[in-house]
Amino acid sequence: MKQLERANQFDEAAFTALKDEIAAYVAGPAEAWAQRIERERRVPPELWQELRARGYLSLAAPAEYGGRAIPFTRYLELIELFSMSHASVRMIVHVVNGTWRAMDRFATGEQRRSFVIPSVKGEIKIAFTLTEPTAGTGADLRCSVTREGDTYYLSGEKHLITFGTMCDYWLLFARVAGTRRADGTVALLVDRRAPGANVTAMDESMGVRGTDHARLSFDRAPVPVANRLGDEGQGLAIALGGFLTPSRISVAMSCVGLARRAQELAIEYAGKRETFGKTLAQRQAIRFMIAENATDIEAARQLVLHAARRWEADDPDAAMLSSMSKLQAVEMLTRVTDKALQIHGGIGFWQPNAIERVYRDARAQRFEEGTNEIQKTVIARELLGKADA
Ligand SMILES: Cc1cc2nc3c(=O)[nH]c(=O)nc-3n(C[C@H](O)[C@H](O)[C@H](O)COP(=O)(O)OP(=O)(O)OC[C@H]3O[C@@H](n4cnc5c(N)ncnc54)[C@H](O)[C@@H]3O)c2cc1C
Repeated sequence: MKQLERANQFDEAAFTALKDEIAAYVAGPAEAWAQRIERERRVPPELWQELRARGYLSLAAPAEYGGRAIPFTRYLELIELFSMSHASVRMIVHVVNGTWRAMDRFATGEQRRSFVIPSVKGEIKIAFTLTEPTAGTGADLRCSVTREGDTYYLSGEKHLITFGTMCDYWLLFARVAGTRRADGTVALLVDRRAPGANVTAMDESMGVRGTDHARLSFDRAPVPVANRLGDEGQGLAIALGGFLTPSRISVAMSCVGLARRAQELAIEYAGKRETFGKTLAQRQAIRFMIAENATDIEAARQLVLHAARRWEADDPDAAMLSSMSKLQAVEMLTRVTDKALQIHGGIGFWQPNAIERVYRDARAQRFEEGTNEIQKTVIARELLGKADA
């Protein structure tokens, strides 16, 4: 696997070759996987193996962890391409290329060796486990632990957890029993086989088909205190702190990639479908939709890249910009996929038309890394302070 950064010199030629390779992979083999996933309603384990063998799961991680050390802004150019593929392909690439970052800042040397590096190398799978069925996401957490000696005992529920049934560890956020708000929150690496952990696969979803999502419940499941990242009280900082900003930006770029795919399909269809003696591409109404979509996509892409550069430069506004970019990009994706489906006419509403899948997959993006309401809350808090609305 080729490193792209040597002695601080980014190898542009190698990067262009990698982009070409990924674009060809997305249009060819990944499309074949997509059709199989839609048919079988599951992600075959061989897809994980193939993505790992191609080096696509360790693009952004540092070279000393076994990654390809691609700078974040440049990595976004790749996630844009992967997002033109099936949402389950994009999900694997996005999650594995980001989870190490959530753990790394707080990991001890031993935890880095046991969890961070094996995750980059694809030897273990880690599921980000925050959302709860009976609480708001964040300081509202209800999953709790009690400590007895060197062991925490974990009780509570989680749901909607991507890779939650097939992972090796849950990177799970809970609170020390009896604490409130952010105080006492903890980030734990919980062994998937821990006694007292009960795992159920969620029912079939509207989009992102094939990716497993889990409902979890814990009844005094033991977790070694040594598996806690950071200190007691830092759980939410790990879940929502430094990791979330780049992850939101990456999700925002995923919206750009999926919108680009919708636009590609709309242009292709408009060029071949004839009504009343002319192709749709010759009709001004359709041409305007395509022009609006192109403008919308490019505007979102530039805001996403701006947020990424500000994050790389340690700008204090980077968190707000990441929320702005996610909000803008997902709103753009909603508009673009709606117009792209409209251009397809009624047949676009039916499987196996590719736009049907893209439209369903696009809807999921309005939840990932926080809803629009949460992004607006973050932006308003930066502008107006923390006072309750
Ligand atoms: C495909 C998919 C994959 C996912 N993968 C994961 C995963 O791997 N790990 C994980 O932990 N979670 C995962 N989630 C969960 C996702 O992060 C949440 O669905 C999302 O953050 C919203 O939280 P919620 O579902 O609890 O909605 P709720 O908190 O119940 O909110 C419901 C609605 O009310 C709004 N709302 C809630 N609180 C407020 C407020 N204070 N002010 C204004 N509006 C509010 C929300 O914006 C939303 O529109 C996944 C979800 C999906 C769809």
